[in-house]
Amino acid sequence: MIKAIYPGSFDPMTYGHLDIIQRGAKLFDQVIVAVVGNPSKSSLLPIDIRTGLITQAVSGMKNVVVGDFQGLTVNYAQENKIKILIRGLRAISDFEAELAMAQTNKELYPELETIFLMSKAEYSFISSSIVKEVARLGGEVSHFVPKPVNDYLKEHYLRGTLI
Ligand code: ADP
Repeated sequence: MIKAIYPGSFDPMTYGHLDIIQRGAKLFDQVIVAVVGNPSKSSLLPIDIRTGLITQAVSGMKNVVVGDFQGLTVNYAQENKIKILIRGLRAISDFEAELAMAQTNKELYPELETIFLMSKAEYSFISSSIVKEVARLGGEVSHFVPKPVNDYLKEHYLRGTLI
């Protein structure tokens, strides 16, 4: 059974992320969407909310599981005997950081292979940061994020419980 990990901040999950998950799930027996909860990286949404929203968005996808972890992705992958790491590439601007990360991970865990899936053209401009900015200013983000995420952002920005 070939398991693949798809790690990220998912703050919040977008249709770009969902597309990568769906395509990964066709390539591998199991995809583990792993929400990174490192305290050093500040996030808008708490980790349990980010994880919960992804769980709702992938419900019905039988070979996708959602979890969270702290610390190094390679340690999590090694402990769970995962040898494939999926990342998405939107544009050349993603490449430099992703290459450095993949090479670092290879040094730390040589058996791990990073597989890059190119973003679908229609999602290549979508980022969690853009979604947050548009939603914060009252704009419509329903074309960018799955429904549970859209509902959550709408409700919380209206209530003023997200800043
Ligand atoms: P990070 O893990 O760097 O904090 P994210 O949580 O936003 O970033 O994204 C996790 C992974 O998904 C990264 O590999 C990122 O390049 C990829 N990704 C983000 N947005 C998209 C998108 N619109 N299309 C395809 N891949 C994406």
